[in-house]
Amino acid sequence: MLKGSCLCGGVAYRAEGPVHHASHCYCTMCQKQHGAGAGSYANVPSAGYVIERGAELVTEYASSEEGRRGFCSVCGSNLFWRSTQEPDCVAVTLGTLEPPYDGPVEREWYPENKPAWLPVIRL
Ligand SMILES: [Zn+2]
Ligand SMILES: [Zn+2]
Repeated sequence: MLKGSCLCGGVAYRAEGPVHHASHCYCTMCQKQHGAGAGSYANVPSAGYVIERGAELVTEYASSEEGRRGFCSVCGSNLFWRSTQEPDCVAVTLGTLEPPYDGPVEREWYPENKPAWLPVIRL
């Protein structure tokens, strides 16, 4: 069971597993929406995804013909990505999960779009 909420706390959700995979997506749409180097997601069955609080605050932006990006209209937290072509799954954002996601991240989408300013860790 995954649980998450937005920055202002107005929206809370739960998602029953299993997590099909978690990913970092470096596509330019995710970079723009997240204001970050990537959007990070856990793919879960939409049947187990429940907005427990603040459903009226969730706005969806159609970023493409199929893509829908759900965010809190009060604080702007990005909550999920879903495709109208694949209604069985929803990708919840790793950064909104509480407690933090502790599973593996198995996929990177559009790695060729990784920003040059991403940190390179050298120990
Ligand atoms: Zn919020
Ligand atoms: Zn993306």
